[in-house]
Amino acid sequence: MKKRPAAFLDRDGVIIRDSNYLSHPGGLKIYPNAVEAVRLLNRHGFHVILITNQSGVARGFLSIQMLEEIHAAIRDLMIKNLAVIDEIYYCPHHPEFGPPHLRVQCACRKPAIGMINNALKDFRIDIEHSFVMGDQWRDMKLALNAGIVGVMVRTGHGREEVCNHIPAFTRLMKGFHIANHALEGVRWILKRR
Ligand SMILES: [Mg+2]
Ligand SMILES: [Zn+2]
Repeated sequence: MKKRPAAFLDRDGVIIRDSNYLSHPGGLKIYPNAVEAVRLLNRHGFHVILITNQSGVARGFLSIQMLEEIHAAIRDLMIKNLAVIDEIYYCPHHPEFGPPHLRVQCACRKPAIGMINNALKDFRIDIEHSFVMGDQWRDMKLALNAGIVGVMVRTGHGREEVCNHIPAFTRLMKGFHIANHALEGVRWILKRR
């Protein structure tokens, strides 16, 4: 099978509204533009992969089981709208909080590239044409660490993060892009191909 590029999408602030440590599927709010963004990525042959830091687990705000219920709910809502998320990788760890097995300096907490490496094992990914999209500076650092293009969105923490980091952004993030939201970011990616 031919390798296909992947869209490594952040969850909170990109796909769903960032409600500090969401701990129940009932609080889920998917951005309508993100549904359309995922559909567009499906249609253009991208693997759609969510990668998300969920230190709320280490901090004791929610269980792994609840986190997986939330993720099942996100995938269901997407499917109902004919949009497919291929996989969701999460990091439940935190270097300073939580019980010993979760209070670790792990290889998966963004901006470390552990979750991208896991995806590379599970899917046939054309990494060169893949991209990262996120609303935080660490998502862009993740892109930088992975050697792929980053798209920053102004939803979630994006507006604030762009303001705080604009000098570094222009200095380090050559070829990166800032979009108003996920759909606009995906359109930019498709146009530059
Ligand atoms: Mg985020
Ligand atoms: Zn981790």
